[in-house]
Amino acid sequence: MSYMQLKITILTLHKKTTYRIVKYLSVNRKLISRLLYAILVIVAVSCSEVKQDYDFTIYNISIIDPVKKETVPNKTIYIKDGKIAKIEDSNDNHKSNGNSSIDGTNKFAIAGLWNMHTHICWKGDLNETIFPVLLSYGITGVRDMGGDLDILNRFKKQLLDDPSSGPNLYGPGPLIDGENPIHPDFSVALTDQNYKLILDSLYDRNIDFIKVYSLLSKDLVRQISQYSKDKNISFAGHISEYITPTEAAELQQKSFEHLNRIEDIRNDSLALKTFIATVKANNSWLCPTLLIYKRKIEIAQGKDLYHPLYDLIDEYLKNEWSQIKKKREGATSNPDKLEKLESIYKEQKELVKLFYKNNMQLLLGSDFGGMAFVYPGYSLHEEMALMQELGFDTYDILKMATYNPAVFFELTDTHGQIEKGKVADLVILNTDPVSDISNTLDINTVIKSGKIVKRQK
Ligand SMILES: [Zn+2]
Repeated sequence: MSYMQLKITILTLHKKTTYRIVKYLSVNRKLISRLLYAILVIVAVSCSEVKQDYDFTIYNISIIDPVKKETVPNKTIYIKDGKIAKIEDSNDNHKSNGNSSIDGTNKFAIAGLWNMHTHICWKGDLNETIFPVLLSYGITGVRDMGGDLDILNRFKKQLLDDPSSGPNLYGPGPLIDGENPIHPDFSVALTDQNYKLILDSLYDRNIDFIKVYSLLSKDLVRQISQYSKDKNISFAGHISEYITPTEAAELQQKSFEHLNRIEDIRNDSLALKTFIATVKANNSWLCPTLLIYKRKIEIAQGKDLYHPLYDLIDEYLKNEWSQIKKKREGATSNPDKLEKLESIYKEQKELVKLFYKNNMQLLLGSDFGGMAFVYPGYSLHEEMALMQELGFDTYDILKMATYNPAVFFELTDTHGQIEKGKVADLVILNTDPVSDISNTLDINTVIKSGKIVKRQK
């Protein structure tokens, strides 16, 4: 029986009942009005019971939970007001919901993916071009690793007004570097005199964390560490040239990017062992961004790195990429240099394997905006594929890209898994990513904050 049919039946039923009551109790108006009121209440309650208690469903889907390392088939996921309202075993009734249901037969649902190292806040209109690309590739969360604070805050305001318009976004604003910063356009140079003033001004403008860069003195890293503790925020980024990796871990730097400086101690087994123990004791994270080392080699080899996404890349960035290409392509004529890049890459991979073997907390990022020919959206899938090449368990790779970011940002109550009550950020795949991680590119549907994303071709 349809909703309308049911409504008519209820109304007809109440009409007949009312007629009889009026006939028998026509003398007692007070009683009649009370009865009519009671009937109205009953009708209202029955109507609200039939009303749909969800926006749409995904039925007959296999839900992948990389935390429990299990895939549970034949489930129906109910989405309501941006959240997962409930999950239950599928039955035949779930199929007949017309427009408001997605057929998940032979498909797989994973929680939304996060790119934990990217740069999308350096130009004011990147929300228009990059947000849709990220969502189309199933990226429902990003950690920006440095850019313009006004742009970051404007993007965050947009996402607060319409969470389905882009990925969840966390960022630091500018890079914090020492004197003569490496990237002057997007850095603030910290000194012993100005550090408090600068950190206060960033904190007051709602940064999510402090991004530290390579040229900070040991004293300044100490001050930043203390400041972070006092304000209950974190600092993350490069390990400064002026401290050891273990010192950075002791100062509770929350994440270490690109394996920078760690490569210096790769052949010193004692230093490496101490570093690993210190990182674990301080609950810190590693974001290796292996893809950038692979891309460096490919650029040097003169490989064609065109991808259809190139046409969407901002002119400023395209320019920068072609300059880097021109400069680095020369490395082909210098075999020693290419060989060196290749041997570094090999050692980077061994380091990441060592971290994995030691159960360290890993994040996946690709450094779009920081490395040439790293494309938005697509590049996180490349980074995941590299982890598979290292022999990592596919459930673990999915966990790194979905659950670990939620742990990192203390969002496990709302994000990171497909569970009742969590925000409905999820990706429906046509093929099983557990059998091959590259199936994360075989996307059927992306859902961001409970809304189906209109994916770009
Ligand atoms: Zn970066």
